[in-house]
Amino acid sequence: MSSDSSIAAVFSQRLDRIRARLEATGTDAVLLSVGPDLPWLIGYDAMPLERLTMLVVPVDATPTLVIPAFEVPRVVERPDLFTIEGWGETEDPITKVVSALSGSARLAVGDHTWSRFLVDLQHVLPEACWIRGAEIIGPLRSVKDEAEIAALQRAADGVDRVAHALRTGEIPLIGRSEADVSAELSRRIIAEGHAKVNFAIVASGPNAASPHHHASDKIIQPGEVVLCDFGGTTAEPHGEPGYCSDITRCVYTGKPPAEFQEAFDHLLEAQAMAVRASVIGVSGASVDKVARDRLAEAGLDQWFLHRLGHGIGVEEHEDPYLVSTNAEPLANGNAFSIEPGFYIAGKWGARIEDIVVATVDGPRSLNRIGHDLAVVEA
Ligand code: ZN
Ligand code: ZN
Ligand code: ZN
Repeated sequence: MSSDSSIAAVFSQRLDRIRARLEATGTDAVLLSVGPDLPWLIGYDAMPLERLTMLVVPVDATPTLVIPAFEVPRVVERPDLFTIEGWGETEDPITKVVSALSGSARLAVGDHTWSRFLVDLQHVLPEACWIRGAEIIGPLRSVKDEAEIAALQRAADGVDRVAHALRTGEIPLIGRSEADVSAELSRRIIAEGHAKVNFAIVASGPNAASPHHHASDKIIQPGEVVLCDFGGTTAEPHGEPGYCSDITRCVYTGKPPAEFQEAFDHLLEAQAMAVRASVIGVSGASVDKVARDRLAEAGLDQWFLHRLGHGIGVEEHEDPYLVSTNAEPLANGNAFSIEPGFYIAGKWGARIEDIVVATVDGPRSLNRIGHDLAVVEA
């Protein structure tokens, strides 16, 4: 984002889109507290504590930010976008939330909101029907504008450079613990322009068969696959939240056995085919099936234990999900991971992951670093 006035225009547009969707779905308001929705919508990140911060966006009235009075100085005031309603230490914030509503038959509440706040609201609004905030905001957040895609691209370029260092052997593997390599990946993610690291999975040998393996004290040996899946969140100016990166690459320490190389090459093709299939109008389920069918030809589908991918933006995992149960067609500006894998317990595993954007010119992979099985000297 180039200036504060252009980000203010973006926030204003997002609020308009939210109100249009509230209207279209017959919802009276959306209530947002902690989590990524609020910074995405107005650039304010609520303190994740027990005192209530909640933005009330009614379908037909000015939004109100209910916030602890002494935290008001943290807010960039944008009076044309929302009103600020501070509550004193001994006041009841729930009353202030309720008075900011213009109707309460059907209300959406942010997915990350503490249950204590929702429970309190349910007590004072026993007639209200509650839906998940993601039903209102998910489809809006999943369509990225140009600035958001540019931020995702910067994030992807950063982790691509880290993956390059991994693939070329610049990051030593053999004789180091997974945890040590994970710490180095994390340092490099920050050095490449991220504000924080979200995860840095390093899974070697049989550990690679566990998709969300936590980097352990295991020492990496010669003759093993080393699966690395890492990402972070960038820092963006003007109060907009950062955007996420997420990449998986595999390295082999020494010459891989033919059986592994062969399986990996099938995976490589399944991943590339799924990227090419990620065209606007095609459902998440169909793209998932492309990868699964290709792995089935090699007898590997039984070891592909998870969905093909997830949307990505200000959150690592968000709409749209590329899974057999998602019949929604991909839309222009959707950004998501394509990450097939195979996991054979006690033996080995592999995954290849890129972030892809569906565009009018076809699928665009944001990660461009080589995908093949990199071999580092044993
Ligand atoms: Zn994952
Ligand atoms: Zn990942
Ligand atoms: Zn992922």
